[in-house]
Amino acid sequence: MEINYCAKCNVPVLGDFCDLCRTRASAKLRFHEMGDIRPISRYESGILLKLVPIKQVRDYLRARLILVARQPGLDYRRDLFVDGFKFGILEYVNDAGRWRYRFLPTGKGASLFYALSGHYDFEVNSSGHLKGKRINERFDGDWAIFRSGACTGVAVPTLKGTKVRDVFCRSVKPRRRSTLKDTTRANTTHLAMLERSAVHFIRNKKADYVAFSGGKDSEVALYLAHMAGVNRAVFANTGMEFPETERFVYNFADFLGIELIEVKPKRSFWDIVDEKGVPTKDSRWCTQYLKLQQLKRFRGTMVDGSRRYESMARMNKYQEAKIGDMRVVYPILDWLALDVWLYIHMRGLPYNPLYDMGYERIGCFMCPAMLNSEFHNVRRTHPRLYWKWVKYLRAQGYGDDDIINGKWRWKSMPNKMKSL
Ligand SMILES: [Zn+2]
Repeated sequence: MEINYCAKCNVPVLGDFCDLCRTRASAKLRFHEMGDIRPISRYESGILLKLVPIKQVRDYLRARLILVARQPGLDYRRDLFVDGFKFGILEYVNDAGRWRYRFLPTGKGASLFYALSGHYDFEVNSSGHLKGKRINERFDGDWAIFRSGACTGVAVPTLKGTKVRDVFCRSVKPRRRSTLKDTTRANTTHLAMLERSAVHFIRNKKADYVAFSGGKDSEVALYLAHMAGVNRAVFANTGMEFPETERFVYNFADFLGIELIEVKPKRSFWDIVDEKGVPTKDSRWCTQYLKLQQLKRFRGTMVDGSRRYESMARMNKYQEAKIGDMRVVYPILDWLALDVWLYIHMRGLPYNPLYDMGYERIGCFMCPAMLNSEFHNVRRTHPRLYWKWVKYLRAQGYGDDDIINGKWRWKSMPNKMKSL
């Protein structure tokens, strides 16, 4: 998948034209089909900066827009973009039994780092093709930058010694600074167009309610529906929400001045988990019972903020569906996460604080669909909730390996997971 990029203003452009320079975007930014590109979060940016040992590079990265796109895989693995190109990946890895984040620059990223700081760790004398080659240097850490003639490369340690991961043989120049604010301004026309068509769509469907979970997508759907004259939000509270989510849902409904209808299941999660079993990715009775069933009480038309690029499962959605007697319509089905975030910034809307605390998707605090990185994050941000769930898992016979490596999230585990 690709989006446009204005090389002159150094900003991504989601339509055809850049509103800063009023010219047609001249470059492209490519990422994975399911990458769902978005701005880096405060939490991720903090992690990244800790993993970059060169001060000039940290200062450069800290001041500007970094974009993040998902790479398919079992846990957190993201492509990182600055100045319109991929400068590295950030991933959550099991390093000999210990889970941690790892950053690896691309060859082009290393060239930028070299241009900014003049720093490299060693020289490699080689005339041939370097990428993938084994070299004799040893170093500490996840990566090192080397120079070889006019090229800059990245070396990584492997079980069989040091290997060249990537090389880039042209010079990369530092670019003019651009921020999230510049990006929002560069996309004003596009965002206004998205807004207009979503509001028009909701009006046409004569919507009655909006499903509001407290996440960024349903927040935008609610805001748009409110503009279209819909004044009722439905919050299906699973009883397993983060406190921040509940608070945000109440506050945002207040902020818009709309009616909030909160629905809860008759029997709580804890009442039925013993008979239904631990919910897993391949057996998610919880969403069905705690959420969908509760929404089936409603008649009429419900606006829902689901997006195509959120997950494979939502890829082939149509713009409307039936749940029980209710019609569900999806006004932001084709928006990218970047559209959603820029829209939130353009309208100056508050958002769920969990996004700044290391969560990418908002749901229950023990959701089996969570990334392992996110579940470990719960231990840090909400230890009481984390240990409550771990205690329950232990009582069900799960061991440390199942818990720390996230294996409890499957009933029958994929092979890639078993080998951990
Ligand atoms: Zn421009």
